[in-house]
Amino acid sequence: MPITDPELIAIFEKRVLNKKVCRKCGALNPPSAVKCRRCRSKNLRPKKKR
Ligand SMILES: [Zn+2]
Repeated sequence: MPITDPELIAIFEKRVLNKKVCRKCGALNPPSAVKCRRCRSKNLRPKKKR
């Protein structure tokens, strides 16, 4: 049974998309992160919606 509940999809998308990605190592960081948690680089970009 596929998930079709729009509320669930919205929550899921928020959790997945509301993150920052390190340009150096590709690690996912919390949206409030300033430094990468893995390599401590400040080269983070927000993950964009499509
Ligand atoms: Zn990194």
